Amino acid sequence: MSENKRPNLTTSAGAPVPSNQDSLTAGERGPLLMQDYQLIEKLAHQNRERIPERTVHAKGWGAHGTLKITGDISRYTKAKALQPGAETPMLARFSTVAGELGAADAERDVRGFALKFYTEDGNWDLVGNNTPVFFVRDPYKFADFIHTQKRHPKTNMRSPTAMWDFWSLSPESLHQVTILMSDRGLPVSPMHMNGYGSHTYSMWNDQGERFWVKFHFKTEQGHKHYTNAEAEQVVGKTRESYQEALYNAIEGGTYPRWKMQIQVMPEMDAETCPFNPFDLTKVWPHGDYPPIDVGYFELNRMPENYFAEIENAAFSPSNIVPGISWSPDKMLQARIFSYADAHRHRLGTHYEQIPVNRPHCPMHHYHKDGEMNVYGGIATGNPNAYYEPNSFNGPVEVPAAQEPPLRIDGNANRYDHRTGHDDYSQVRVLFEKVLEPDEKERLFSNIAGTWADVPEFICERQLGEFKKVHPDYEAGVRKAWEKVKAEGGYQPNAQPVDENTPPVAAE
Ligand code: NDP
Repeated sequence: MSENKRPNLTTSAGAPVPSNQDSLTAGERGPLLMQDYQLIEKLAHQNRERIPERTVHAKGWGAHGTLKITGDISRYTKAKALQPGAETPMLARFSTVAGELGAADAERDVRGFALKFYTEDGNWDLVGNNTPVFFVRDPYKFADFIHTQKRHPKTNMRSPTAMWDFWSLSPESLHQVTILMSDRGLPVSPMHMNGYGSHTYSMWNDQGERFWVKFHFKTEQGHKHYTNAEAEQVVGKTRESYQEALYNAIEGGTYPRWKMQIQVMPEMDAETCPFNPFDLTKVWPHGDYPPIDVGYFELNRMPENYFAEIENAAFSPSNIVPGISWSPDKMLQARIFSYADAHRHRLGTHYEQIPVNRPHCPMHHYHKDGEMNVYGGIATGNPNAYYEPNSFNGPVEVPAAQEPPLRIDGNANRYDHRTGHDDYSQVRVLFEKVLEPDEKERLFSNIAGTWADVPEFICERQLGEFKKVHPDYEAGVRKAWEKVKAEGGYQPNAQPVDENTPPVAAE
């Protein structure tokens, strides 16, 4: 301690620092001395304060909380964290998909809804969205889709042309596009939206039976949304409206809650289900698979350090625990690899050792050196046990953690994901039965509002897709588009198009 009882300023190696004000110079006018290592270290640290931002879901808001199980789903799963009465510490991170780290919060976009449960059997991550479906069903399309949401390589601007070109050529996106352009595409805060596991997962019980499962998290704060006009006002005043809302609520002692529910499908029902239950562009109708109450989670503690606990948080669908597993969903299978791989790139090979990612239960493994390995040899509990099998009390496998065999059928082949799928019926139910007339009007104008500079043939192609959902859908958007045109807001040549590669209207 220094004389005034404040802690000593030290180097990162712990030695006291004589000055944090004046550089070490040869004479008052300089130049600097190379040996002023603390100055060099300070500059070097500043240069390294940013890590690569996430390619998607860069802008986020998060908090710690607790999952409490009030229902009884023990007949479906042996997961300890899901047994009646269980309480599990957790972390939630919400995000927009397309915007960069500094993007405004109140922008129309899908929201990420990522949950990490620190269970006694290891971390269980559920990395979902605020929507029950997604834009694509085959992972080959994931990178292409994301490219349409990010910046154009030449203009470095977001490109509605790219978005609608891709969507109009990808009918499987209709369901998600409709939800995105509806009221739910612009919640007023992370607390006023649902979360969905989106993919089909599975659960397995003590008897080795498997069930297919959808996860739902229903906001107890109620759904609240901005219109585009309201969001413009908000963004004009603050770009951090979500962070402010979440921070002020939790620091003020008002803890947001979400009710947890699951839909369950017996394993063999998947073979007779009229749609592919592993298709990420589809929901399971509530009438056929009624949601079952499981419990709720509450967020009650903001991070002490945003960077350490939220920017460093690494969620991955690869993190499951005994009693919970994946499904054949092709998008989920791809994310099992790609999310963990993104973290290895962004945070370092041993990113699970960062405190916010570290399991609360003991972990013992044989992964050895590499970036961020701060545990060294003790990961196995014994420095002589750094390979397996060994005679030195190294960790051994746990056969009871083996999930039941996964039934797989069919020839390894490439199956055309664009044919043989009904991309319209579920969107039609949403449009006809769920959306109220006033919300439909907002849906129409929200869509037409994004077409200000999209080439006409792309808009027409998309209108053709809306028509296949419902003639009123096409007619409504067309009318809203005509209005935009009449008001002079349609200038399809505003965006520069490379004259050597004009758009091709052919299918
Ligand atoms: P239901 O009538 O039983 O369910 C309709 C569901 O739609 C509601 O439970 C609610 O889901 C959700 N919803 C309500 N208002 C809106 C809105 N303004 N925008 C978007 N979603 C809304 O019918 P189905 O289960 O047969 O589903 C019908 C359609 O509803 C689906 O095709 C899908 O588009 C949409 N939907 C269905 C969900 C599902 O898991 N079955 C989930 C979300 C949407 P919630 O209770 O999750 O808020």
